[in-house]
Amino acid sequence: MTKPNYDSSFIAELTALRRDLHRVPELSSEETETAKRMAGWLADCEADEVITGLGGTGVAGVFDSGVPGPAILFRCELDALPIHETGIPNWRSKIAGKGHMCGHDGHMTILCGLARRLQAVRPKRGRVILLFQPAEETGAGARGVIDDVRFKSIKPDFAFGLHNLPGMKLGDAAIREGSFCFASEGMTIHLSGWTSHAAHPEDGRSPAGAMLTLAEKLPALPRDLGMEPGEAIVTLSHARLGEPAFGISPGEAWILATLRARTDEMQARLMQAARDLANKAADAAGLQLEISTAERFAACSNDAEPTAIVRKACEEAGIACAEADGPFRWSEDFGLFGRAAPSAFFVLGAGEDHSQLHNPDYDFPDEIIPRALAIFETIAREQCG
Ligand SMILES: [Zn+2]
Ligand SMILES: [Zn+2]
Repeated sequence: MTKPNYDSSFIAELTALRRDLHRVPELSSEETETAKRMAGWLADCEADEVITGLGGTGVAGVFDSGVPGPAILFRCELDALPIHETGIPNWRSKIAGKGHMCGHDGHMTILCGLARRLQAVRPKRGRVILLFQPAEETGAGARGVIDDVRFKSIKPDFAFGLHNLPGMKLGDAAIREGSFCFASEGMTIHLSGWTSHAAHPEDGRSPAGAMLTLAEKLPALPRDLGMEPGEAIVTLSHARLGEPAFGISPGEAWILATLRARTDEMQARLMQAARDLANKAADAAGLQLEISTAERFAACSNDAEPTAIVRKACEEAGIACAEADGPFRWSEDFGLFGRAAPSAFFVLGAGEDHSQLHNPDYDFPDEIIPRALAIFETIAREQCG
């Protein structure tokens, strides 16, 4: 197909939508108003089917040609973050303590643009599915969508997603086949002994020693398991020992760590090793142990065929697409879609000096909307006409 070319009034409409979405951020799993707005947009674009309440607040618009052919899914995210915005744009968040500091407002807008394009020129074969997924930031959203029985009816042949990336040249793309970003999971280790007078710590059972052992040994786990540097990382994110008082020898401790690895298999080994370490430290000190986990993200791995499709679409759209240095250490719950269909995830530069994702002054760079849209539309047209 020829390179997509969008007129300035269309891009102005999308930019205005993006800024509107930016003003009213909603947190993970609470995206009811955003979801309503997306469902309304899809209906306005005459999607053949609009599925709502998918995995909670998710929305999907299906453009069905009625002719046999591939089912191509494009995914974006609905949620914002519990971060108070400090930037100065006129479209700053109106809701204190909440902000679109990951650019999901921009990702939604790109799919809204694709909906308009599919309304103007409908697919000639197969189906194009535009998925607005909830709760990406907590890792719960993709799982909720995939477990929803109505997702089974979507049955995509390929799934595609993107994320904007500060630190990379504005509007350039990067992708790699195989591991793209890490699996991750948070672990809370709670150690319980019992308190005593600070003058007589021997009458109690303090978890201080076990906590310090864990603080030292958890970050060393990837090395101890023989994992290469750059393949896995354990980061201590929080620790607490007893209460801030001088008269008490502490009876409880908490230690929180985030564990990340390149593949799901390595992640499972890392998690098990952390549990074993906590058990050993608790046993040695005669402490009770409780372990809980949260925010589990599958590793994101790109399949060969859809990766080649992204590269070809970038070339046709005149967008530089580099081999990503990777895999990235951050996580993306898009990885789970790889279990539902061959999939590819790529990044699009947000500018070398742009504020980083989750910074309080981050704002999605509107300049990349037409570029992202061109890549997605080229893929949709190549596959579905
Ligand atoms: Zn984020
Ligand atoms: Zn994000």
